[in-house]
Amino acid sequence: MITFEQVSVQYPDAAGPALSGLDLTVPEGELCLLVGPSGAGKSTLLGTVSGLVPHFTGGRLHGRVTVDGRDTRTHRPRELADLVGTVGQDPRGHFTTDTVEDELAYGMESLGLPPEVMRQRVEEILDLLGLAELRSRPLSTLSGGQQQRVAIGSVLTVHPKVLVLDEPTSALDPGAAEEVLAVVQRLVHDLGTTVLMAEHRLERVVQYADQVLLLPGDGGPAVLGEPAEVLAH
Ligand code: ADP
Ligand code: ADP
Repeated sequence: MITFEQVSVQYPDAAGPALSGLDLTVPEGELCLLVGPSGAGKSTLLGTVSGLVPHFTGGRLHGRVTVDGRDTRTHRPRELADLVGTVGQDPRGHFTTDTVEDELAYGMESLGLPPEVMRQRVEEILDLLGLAELRSRPLSTLSGGQQQRVAIGSVLTVHPKVLVLDEPTSALDPGAAEEVLAVVQRLVHDLGTTVLMAEHRLERVVQYADQVLLLPGDGGPAVLGEPAEVLAH
């Protein structure tokens, strides 16, 4: 579902590449966990999937990244929006509406779906993410974990095949993190969504990751393998 072929990214003025010669395949319906210290290139790697790199960051991309056969360099991020959903660390700056329901509908509006389909999908996501009771609540009154579930829900309404999560729990306390990671686990298991996720809470996530990619961040090569194998590294 996602392939990286000899992918390197170089930012202007940076001493070395942010990513170098990376090969990776994430099969459909699998979860690939991305780990490594700050500055190791995790966000850069995730950005090559959503198209932020090279289109919006100035990083030069060499090699090829495809999602469901689409080359992310020759498609604008907007053209990938129905295929790749992206959620970052802190959703607050990204909310565009006031209430849970409106935020869930927002992502679909640019797709021109019929109103009836949009209503149906909002209901589906409210149920799936356990947000039904919060539907009319202002986003600013929600807990961090609830807000992050809304952020995930708002990208799920367009039924993306791929979800890219960049440290989705790093701004959350352990209880809220658990809420969010339980949702991610369900998406992979029940909906067959393909997930690429950078995440620190390894002990929680490693049980259901299919593979783990370690970016060592010291100029060393990326290490890919079974979860237990990589963590022993
Ligand atoms: P991580 O997500 O693992 O913390 P990043 O992908 O954010 O790593 O960063 C990898 C390297 O690229 C770092 O040295 C960082 O400073 C640099 N970098 C990231 N984004 C940019 C950018 N837009 N312009 C220049 N350098 C960047
Ligand atoms: P490589 O051949 O290693 O993939 P290139 O030298 O062709 O790399 O590309 C370097 C930079 O040129 C890329 O980061 C990108 O910004 C731009 N570029 C090259 N080919 C394309 C393309 N088909 N569409 C958009 N940008 C491209």
